[in-house]
Amino acid sequence: MKTSQPAAGKERILEGLAAAPGIAVGIAHRHEHGQVHVPEYRIPSSRIDDELSRFQLAASQAGRQVDDLLHKAKKLPSAAAEEMGYLLEAYLQMLKGSRLVRGVEARIKQERINAESAVMREIGEIVEGLAAVDDSYLAARAADISEVGSRLIRALNKSAWRPFEQLNKNSAVLADELSPADTALLDPKLVLGLATEAGGMESHTAIMARSLGIPSVLGVSGLLDGLRGGETVIIDGGLGQVIINPSASTLSAYRALRAQHLRIRRQLEGLASLPAVTRDGETISLMANIELPGEVDGVLSAGAMGVGLLRSEFLFMNRSDLPNEEEQYQALAGIVKAMKGRPVTIRTLDAGSEKLPDLDSPGLNPALGLRAIRLSLKHPELLEPQLTACLRAGAHGPIRILLPMVMTVGEVTSVREAMTRIAKKLKRKRVPIADPLPPLGIMIEIPGAAITADALAAHADFFAIGTNDLTMYTLAIDRSDEQVASLYNPLHPAVLRMIQFATEAALRARIPVSVCGEMAGEARLTGLLLGLGIRELSMAPIHLGRVKQRIRAMNLSGAIRRARSIMDQVDSARISALIDSFNDETDAKS
Ligand code: PEP
Ligand code: MG
Repeated sequence: MKTSQPAAGKERILEGLAAAPGIAVGIAHRHEHGQVHVPEYRIPSSRIDDELSRFQLAASQAGRQVDDLLHKAKKLPSAAAEEMGYLLEAYLQMLKGSRLVRGVEARIKQERINAESAVMREIGEIVEGLAAVDDSYLAARAADISEVGSRLIRALNKSAWRPFEQLNKNSAVLADELSPADTALLDPKLVLGLATEAGGMESHTAIMARSLGIPSVLGVSGLLDGLRGGETVIIDGGLGQVIINPSASTLSAYRALRAQHLRIRRQLEGLASLPAVTRDGETISLMANIELPGEVDGVLSAGAMGVGLLRSEFLFMNRSDLPNEEEQYQALAGIVKAMKGRPVTIRTLDAGSEKLPDLDSPGLNPALGLRAIRLSLKHPELLEPQLTACLRAGAHGPIRILLPMVMTVGEVTSVREAMTRIAKKLKRKRVPIADPLPPLGIMIEIPGAAITADALAAHADFFAIGTNDLTMYTLAIDRSDEQVASLYNPLHPAVLRMIQFATEAALRARIPVSVCGEMAGEARLTGLLLGLGIRELSMAPIHLGRVKQRIRAMNLSGAIRRARSIMDQVDSARISALIDSFNDETDAKS
């Protein structure tokens, strides 16, 4: 619900969800989803030919799209087909050697500006000329010309321009919503903080922001109201607050707080080389989740034992074609080599839902639709190159292959058959691959999979419990919808029972089991997860220090006793209180 516009220049404090820790003080950059962004810049004379080719490519792509529409229009009832045909033919003419095209090319050459600016200026001039004549037919032509201009800009955006390339240093991106793919384009050297109106704590946008180490607050209602861009803004990703136009005293208080945060972070970094061992001697394997290949150095310096979850979606983001096997192999092998013998758990594509919505038809309810392993099994052209690339990358170091959203034993056996067949073919061709074949594991993130974990454990080589989706599907709460964020609760007894059941099934079958959802990175919950039998946790590298600190302070025997009493509870508030008192007692002893 919108209220009246806030007064310009006054300090404004807004509450949201604390999505990625840290404090940022930056200059607001307003970003609206779906808006056609038109970057404007001058180009050196040496780039004129490249810019002309980029424009010509965009014009022919836009032309092809209009051609496709023209074909579709022919199937319409005859009167509509005639009208649409006439209009689309006119668009096509405009895209081929018309005054518009010639004018844009002349501007690129003479004014030395980028193609987008040239299109905007040319369209502006033509439309202005038409508007000067008081004629309804010509007014309609002006609308057509603007439409062709938008098509050209969209084609140009796709070909070269990235939405956040032109940001200044010290920016804070404030958006209505941001997709995970757009978030992946944020450069942490330029973007100090992020805030959005939409999104939940476990949304992939939040996960991407945490992996980039950008302090973020999501789900901030009214964030963009009255915001022009250029204001000073504080983003407190630990508290979940955004302060626009902070007063001088707020600014100095936050600068001091920021310095304190950085000190604590450095202290935690000092733990990187120490083992993750409880006071009573149990070693816990701490692994990292990776969203983007650039994170590997951070993973190693944070002291992770390996990669417990490599989300392979990055290979498919921000492009209109699919990556081929060789490209996937190069990217995966690069990560495996850089991890220097530490295991890398590569998860096959988890497309669908809010992460990468467009790889197949969107479906009525994408989160319950053709997502993850379902999509890969339906499209062998997705699964097979990815398995091949994984097996080849496995020649450079230890890997494990992890399947997302598994629901049935049949899904595991189908992938294993495909993997064995592909491995045989590669061996025949003498292509170096992982030898022996890598363990094939599954995510436990559908309630049905958790409840049938015994059966699945007989076919999977390891389990990785995905508490983000497991919570979402168990409680029927969309993890990325800020409107129900307060109801999203992994401490609901139903979720904890699923985790316990799946963990015990894995331990009985003697297969490794880890937690790699966001719960794994919450130091507050470490005692509970260890108490339930988990000995491997995989998380965003930013959380490794705090979790290790907690492990080194606690007794496993105490955690097991506390987990037992927690599992007797039916009320989340009581569960929360038992977790906090366990942590307080641990802190008091250490
Ligand atoms: C999960 O669901 O907990 C998980 C780790 O997978 P993702 O967040 O990528 O859906
Ligand atoms: Mg998941």
